[in-house]
Amino acid sequence: MARRQTIDPLVRAKVMETWGNDCWLGLPGCTRVGTEDDHIVPYSHGGGDTVANIRRACKHCNASRQDRVLYGYGARLHMIVVPPGSCDREAVDYIDAHKSAGDPVVSFSALAAAMGLTSPSLAERRAVAMAWSGAYRQFAISAEPIDVWCTRTTPSSHRHPRMLDEWVALDYDVQVIDPGFAVEWERATDDAGRKRVRQWYALHLSQELVDARKRERRAKLVALGLRTDGTRASSRPEW
Ligand SMILES: [Zn+2]
Repeated sequence: MARRQTIDPLVRAKVMETWGNDCWLGLPGCTRVGTEDDHIVPYSHGGGDTVANIRRACKHCNASRQDRVLYGYGARLHMIVVPPGSCDREAVDYIDAHKSAGDPVVSFSALAAAMGLTSPSLAERRAVAMAWSGAYRQFAISAEPIDVWCTRTTPSSHRHPRMLDEWVALDYDVQVIDPGFAVEWERATDDAGRKRVRQWYALHLSQELVDARKRERRAKLVALGLRTDGTRASSRPEW
């Protein structure tokens, strides 16, 4: 967890001079102005009180990030988004084609199968969703340089209504696999399934949208010295 302490005022002044005082995270609910010192490599992972490792964050973002790492500063999170009709089959196919042997996969359908569920009720779906969230949460703070593959239908939850925004802010690899409305509609076996398909397509998720937002975020991360664009190679902290 984040440590409550004060960093050297001279380091903070240099951080603000170098990287500015806008909140570096911009998570949903961000208040924009930096009021706290946020460790890029979390303190609990050995991240230091250095100008290279600290950026200013608003209180809200610092708290909601917890110790989740920016993509590659520890674990690399790959979020594969699919409509609900295929029961994440396409996502698992994509992951099988891209992952390395031994990479962990956090899949709703695999978790449900491991619980012995073939056609989960609402309560059972919630239990599977909690298992998914628990696994994600733990991998998201991992300091180990592992690749983690997560499948997801709707990138939101009651507690995290704008999950996709959080993934983009943390520079995750996000892939939207869309077999098309007609295919998904055909796969839905009942009214509840068709309703889920309609709701998913109402979100208008697409790889183009994700890529555009990722490009914008990447430019910001380059300006913050957290990614390189090939010309500012010296400012990325080591981990
Ligand atoms: Zn913020």
